[in-house]
Amino acid sequence: MSTPAFTASDDIVHFIAGQTTPAKSTRFSDVFNPATGRKSRRVALASAADVATAVTAAQKAFGQWADTPPLKRARIMFKFLELLNLHQNELAAIITAEHGKVFTDAQGEVVRGIEIVEFACGIPELLKGEYTDQVSTNIDNWTMRQPLGVVAGITPFNFPVMVPMWMFPMAIAAGNTFILKPSPTDPSAALFIARLFQEAGLPDGVFNVVQGDKEAVDALIEHPDVKALSFVGSTPIANYIYERSAHFGKRVQALGGAKNHMVIMPDADIDKAVDALVGAAYGSAGERCMAISVAVLVGSAADKVMPALIERTKTLKIKNGMELDAEMGPIVTAAAKTRISAYIQDGINEGAAILVDGRNFQLPEFAAGFWLGGTLFDHVKPHMKIYQEEIFGPVLSCVRLETFSDAVELINAHEFGNGVSCFTSDGNIAREFARRIQVGMVGINVPIPVPMAWHGFGGWKKSLFGDMHAYGREGVRFYTKQKSIMQRWPESISKGNEFVMPTIK
Ligand code: NAD
Repeated sequence: MSTPAFTASDDIVHFIAGQTTPAKSTRFSDVFNPATGRKSRRVALASAADVATAVTAAQKAFGQWADTPPLKRARIMFKFLELLNLHQNELAAIITAEHGKVFTDAQGEVVRGIEIVEFACGIPELLKGEYTDQVSTNIDNWTMRQPLGVVAGITPFNFPVMVPMWMFPMAIAAGNTFILKPSPTDPSAALFIARLFQEAGLPDGVFNVVQGDKEAVDALIEHPDVKALSFVGSTPIANYIYERSAHFGKRVQALGGAKNHMVIMPDADIDKAVDALVGAAYGSAGERCMAISVAVLVGSAADKVMPALIERTKTLKIKNGMELDAEMGPIVTAAAKTRISAYIQDGINEGAAILVDGRNFQLPEFAAGFWLGGTLFDHVKPHMKIYQEEIFGPVLSCVRLETFSDAVELINAHEFGNGVSCFTSDGNIAREFARRIQVGMVGINVPIPVPMAWHGFGGWKKSLFGDMHAYGREGVRFYTKQKSIMQRWPESISKGNEFVMPTIK
């Protein structure tokens, strides 16, 4: 394949109309390897003019792409899928180099993204409309779904491959053209994907990448030819994108932040629950929107869980992510490390019991990297900042409660509602939990219940602004509009003009 190797002197630029495109703007941002703490390259930050160039290219490609039979679009998806499978490890290595997450976890991210492409390959079936023969004498009525036009995706740093793939495979398979605005923190994966798509035979202009920050996002929101925006990121920005896009009359889905709880009941298999909790809290350094950041220990579960949890938190294998036995890598940026460390201090100041303090962690061979160890708090109370706010780092807060009902009440009162989990061996507790909990994605003895490609992903409350979840059938609906057609042929017309509302006779 023709993918050129990156060199440190290459700036990370845009990909528009099938070509890597130098920026019109002169603004750049530094990209780091979080393990070494060293700057690796620079990424261009698009101006409104760069965005306009991308929208023009996408708009130009739209007509022909929308007219391409869904089966032909699916065949390009199949080819893209083959190439993704072939280049999985290169993509995972790009993720680890800029995000820091461990390589095996990055491989998992790529696979979860690929699953959406597999689902999008079924687009001819997914786009099928509904048909009613003979709604009235000699009249048929059917519905079809048509693409919107140019659509855009704005994505966060924490899944630079999987989250864009929640969006563009569905959008493109449905006949739209797409502009991806990745996070400037880890922007290289998007360009690699663009080249694979081109090699798969995707026409120029159907998939474009615009690198950038708020300026690019605002230009996408304000551009009249961008018909829909998908956003994934923090809640304040999700809220902003939702309101501002609505102001400009755009269709929008904006997925926000999270504070995910795991309830452990006294009857749970404690060893399995602790294993699951450690992975869900500290995997990817807690920088997952579905990471567990609060353990709700009910009744006697607390005393059973705590010794093993302390031991496992202290002995996490924290290493450069490219070492295959690493369980946790560095924090994504120096700024994120400072923010997380400040939260840890807040927890101490507010009186939570700190059992393991990750700020003491050091890795001498990578002394300039952005390292933190796992942090464990016990006796956290709902009024504390570390309970209320999303920390987005390897910090686990344990809350002790007396009953199952207390746990449900606590979780339902939280402003976020992304993911939640309950570990129990009681079927009735499990059923009640799944029914009563006010959270969009629920795991029963499953710590991180990210739905499969055909089910769709989305939280409740301040974790999602908009009506539709990402991917799955919801994704098809989001990226298409429904048209109803009612048909009667002239030779069937027996009456003259009709001036009354037609009714079924
Ligand atoms: P972020 O909100 O800082 O950035 C997300 C995107 O918005 C990026 O592309 C960024 O360039 C852009 N952006 C940043 N500031 C902006 C502004 N003022 N105006 C317009 N655009 C702006 O999020 P992040 O730090 O990259 O990612 C972490 C956050 O994403 C966490 O809150 C996490 O919970 C959330 N997240 C949520 C989900 C989900 O499915 N709900 C999934 C992944 C991540």
